[in-house]
Amino acid sequence: MTVSSSAWFAAGRQPADQATVRRSNLALVLRHLREAGPRSRARIAVETGLNKGTVSSLVAELVERGLARDGEVERGGAIGRPAQSVELDGRRIGGIGVEINVDYLSVLVLDLRNSVVFEHRVALDVQALAADVVLDAVSELAGRALDECARLGVAPIGMTLAVPALVDVEAGVVAFAPNLHWRQVGVVGGVIDRLAARTGARPAFPVMVDNDANLAALGEFAMGSVAGTCDLVYLTGATGVGGGVIVGGRLLRGAEGFSGEVGHIQLDPAGHVCGCGRRGCWETMVGLAGLFRMAADEHDVVRNPALDLDRRLEVIRRRAETGDARTLDALSRVGAALGLGASVLVNVFNPRALVLGGCETLAQTEPRNMLRVARALGYGGRRRVGEGPASAPSAQSAGAARSSVVRDCNVSPPRRASRRSATPRLSCTRPRCSCSTSTAASRA
Ligand SMILES: [Zn+2]
Repeated sequence: MTVSSSAWFAAGRQPADQATVRRSNLALVLRHLREAGPRSRARIAVETGLNKGTVSSLVAELVERGLARDGEVERGGAIGRPAQSVELDGRRIGGIGVEINVDYLSVLVLDLRNSVVFEHRVALDVQALAADVVLDAVSELAGRALDECARLGVAPIGMTLAVPALVDVEAGVVAFAPNLHWRQVGVVGGVIDRLAARTGARPAFPVMVDNDANLAALGEFAMGSVAGTCDLVYLTGATGVGGGVIVGGRLLRGAEGFSGEVGHIQLDPAGHVCGCGRRGCWETMVGLAGLFRMAADEHDVVRNPALDLDRRLEVIRRRAETGDARTLDALSRVGAALGLGASVLVNVFNPRALVLGGCETLAQTEPRNMLRVARALGYGGRRRVGEGPASAPSAQSAGAARSSVVRDCNVSPPRRASRRSATPRLSCTRPRCSCSTSTAASRA
């Protein structure tokens, strides 16, 4: 668990151990409200094991900070007075997630209840620009989010930058981003300096950077569709393919913090050259660049990085729907490769859920692709192929924003007991996805 460095939960003048206990208890009550819903102070005391006086004091502090509020009167029992319930608030608290990707930047602000406060995306050919120029644009976008927070009376408590890269989290540095062509870029320092120049003061909240797939996994684990699933693999599938792996309720980072680079598992030594310099990495077979390459010639509109990604994917969708043979073949090959790599990951990590982020086009235009994945994972006819979160923002942005909220509220992800099942749940992040239960169960 990361303890916030912001003044939000500042220890004040209390002895360190006393302050730590109180902070931990604040987090406990907040988490309990988030997971269990509105309830009286007395019920919170019984369910958390804290005494009533402590709970009253903690709730008062949460209300003062805008994190909780009084709700309806609870009339549960026949004995005693009706009790005032307490519920999660957090509408005035925002976590900011900024995603830097190959051909776009996006920002998303979520409040403590996981509601979208602000979101915006701009197309940008990041690969073609110097890192300094990109950081200018990132800071401009982040500044717009801060302006909107100020207008709405939302206090930002953290900003997290999501980058498809090997990231030195502690130093705030992108060590290597093959698809952005970045090496040793001080992203956190660069953004803080630019925001300070914009407003005349350094941000009063922590600014962090992390690998996009790690953030997507943490975001899903904390507040997403598979929240609390302690063994979870999250795949991000844009141009680069990354994996965030949660094992036993903890993010797997590896010795140097660079684990999860599943897109660079070499599946075809004779295949296409990857951004990392090798050939036939998984992401050359299943990433969007691979899909576009297989689906269209070099000067085709779908291979124009200056064009917004959604518009390019829309072209792919349209062509698939009209039965374009080359597009359908490309989608089919990507689906088969997705299943191949996913089965490797399932065998290595034995997760309870595998979340396919960024597979919207595959699922929407060619539902049979999800069946290919399901079959590769060994799903039987009755296994569930589930839907992901019904939120439109990218998982990386959402993960970054959620991580900002979770880290800075000092709320650890929920740890629920997992039910045992023979095979992991497969989850696609597309809202109302056509690869849902009925489709998969009837055809698999
Ligand atoms: Zn590679």
